[in-house]
Amino acid sequence: MTQRRIGIDLGGTKTEVILLGGDSETLFRTRIPTVRDDYSATIESIAGLVEQAEAQAGLEALPVGVGIPGSVSRKTGLVKNANSTWLNGKPLQADLSKRLKREVKVTNDANCLAVSEATDGAAVGYEYTFAAILGTGCGAGLAHRAEAVVGPNGVAGEWGHNPLPWTSETELQSRQCYCGRFGCQETFLSGTGLCLSYRRLTGEALTGHEIAERAGAGERAAVAVVNDYLDGLARGLAAVINVLDPDVIVLGGGVSNMAVIYERVPALLPNYVFGGECDTPLVRAVHGDSSGVRGAAWLNPIKN
Ligand SMILES: [Zn+2]
Repeated sequence: MTQRRIGIDLGGTKTEVILLGGDSETLFRTRIPTVRDDYSATIESIAGLVEQAEAQAGLEALPVGVGIPGSVSRKTGLVKNANSTWLNGKPLQADLSKRLKREVKVTNDANCLAVSEATDGAAVGYEYTFAAILGTGCGAGLAHRAEAVVGPNGVAGEWGHNPLPWTSETELQSRQCYCGRFGCQETFLSGTGLCLSYRRLTGEALTGHEIAERAGAGERAAVAVVNDYLDGLARGLAAVINVLDPDVIVLGGGVSNMAVIYERVPALLPNYVFGGECDTPLVRAVHGDSSGVRGAAWLNPIKN
């Protein structure tokens, strides 16, 4: 019996495929520009990548998992909340399963991060993993051991579009989100939000990496923005801990590379976690940018 499996990460700009071996080694990997605004062409492009990976393996009918920047409603089977809007309202899982003649698993890309890290990354051995992506946007997913938890509405772990907790009304109203609401965590805790904070304070547009560097060098404005960011992140994560109390929190996405997060946020968490006590491990994703596609492959766990 083969232990090989295929993962697809359907991103906004690129679609990536990986072929994993039973020891989680990468046997094949390639990416193509995402086919945008054309649903049936999206299906065909994914099928093409699967066939390419299977040709490499010399095998057929391998298990396939797909991570998407949106969620799948368990009730309707339809995609929703995808910023790749041409997927919304479509039965992607059913259509891919039909096209590829096997049961394809489709889930949110942040769930893939959680599954990837719980399978062979930073969250191995923990029971509940909460994994957040702090990138262009801000999403999160949940895994129980190494399986994605999605819930009846398909939104378990979705967190970016809750308002940032313990934040003044004025501050919340100052951040409009693309989703139509104000003060979503995404508008503060994403890389985009971090850059906006700096730009509002200084008038200067920098990348998150540049802001972190300037803060490290002691620039006053950058230090203030990073301090606010870390406190906001602690508040956002404390609200998760107060509801779920996960065994580990994993961070991915560009902002998660800021070392200062792991040095300082753990000490800020007890300020907001009920009872004033918190020793939840806060760790960086081991597989970095590869976690999405690896986690998609692991949506079909090895059954012994
Ligand atoms: Zn929002």
